[in-house]
Amino acid sequence: MKIAMVLRNDDFTREVEQQIKEKLRASRHTYQIIDHPGEQPDLVLSIGGDGTLLEAVHQYGLDATYVGIHTGHLGFYADWRPEELNDFVQALDEGNPQIVEYPTVQCDIHMSDGSMHSKWALNELVIRNASLSTLVVCVFINGDEFETFRGDGLIVSSPSGSTAYNKAVNGAIVHPSIEAIQLSEIASINNQTYRTINSSLVLPSHHEIEFIVMNPEIMIGLDREQAVWKQVRAITCRVGSNKVKFARYKKLPFWGRVRNSFIAD
Ligand code: NAP
Ligand code: MN
Repeated sequence: MKIAMVLRNDDFTREVEQQIKEKLRASRHTYQIIDHPGEQPDLVLSIGGDGTLLEAVHQYGLDATYVGIHTGHLGFYADWRPEELNDFVQALDEGNPQIVEYPTVQCDIHMSDGSMHSKWALNELVIRNASLSTLVVCVFINGDEFETFRGDGLIVSSPSGSTAYNKAVNGAIVHPSIEAIQLSEIASINNQTYRTINSSLVLPSHHEIEFIVMNPEIMIGLDREQAVWKQVRAITCRVGSNKVKFARYKKLPFWGRVRNSFIAD
């Protein structure tokens, strides 16, 4: 089995990495640790936080299978704690994990010159104005005009991303078995002149959101990536046709993670 590792950049994470490598070497199975970009691993091991897993997913793409070890708090994308490494390697040896698939957000960025860039995110797409002035975006749903948004920004999150930025703006938490995207507002202007729905919208697969962008420069965030884009005409978003595959060697119910992260340990 070929295993790739993606690490958070801290001493404790590197210590955990060394421990896992030792345990994999001592196993009766043969594990090959690969570190050449371009070589396709059977399993990608993310050691760190949820942010590390996001990085791993963009590094190795949607064909790979992922498993996370958290070296901070229990997150949403990691199943194993550093004190469980023996159990983890034993579970690897036994094989046959359940493969759980999480939906992604897929979006096409259409430029004024007619060119187009296709992107995807595991957590979310975020659009904001490139400066501190108001973002102005006409929102269409399935081709019909819905509203003109004025405010700080818009988030289109996946179900597994619903507990991240989306939650901070009071979006709903959506179970990752539901194939949906959620549109949430960041500080919309709502007064006698300007009006938005001012609630998060959850859209099923095959529905499409289109943003017609009025600002000459916007900031686009895709998970950890962020960049200023000039001359964007429109952005379309839908549930991605590809999902991210996680190898589950033990049960960790989503609602338990939600409770653990936000209510009590
Ligand atoms: P970060 O600043 O470390 O992330 C902020 C927090 O979000 C961290 O505690 C991170 O967990 C957590 N997180 C990431 N994905 C999550 C998920 N699916 N569910 C629940 N919590 C999650 O930056 P980062 O680690 O590179 O993560 C990028 C993400 O940060 C973005 O995708 C966005 O969702 C989120 N973010 C949130 C806000 C906000 O809440 N106002 C603002 C900007 C970005 P770890 O510590 O385990 O990495
Ligand atoms: Mn982080």
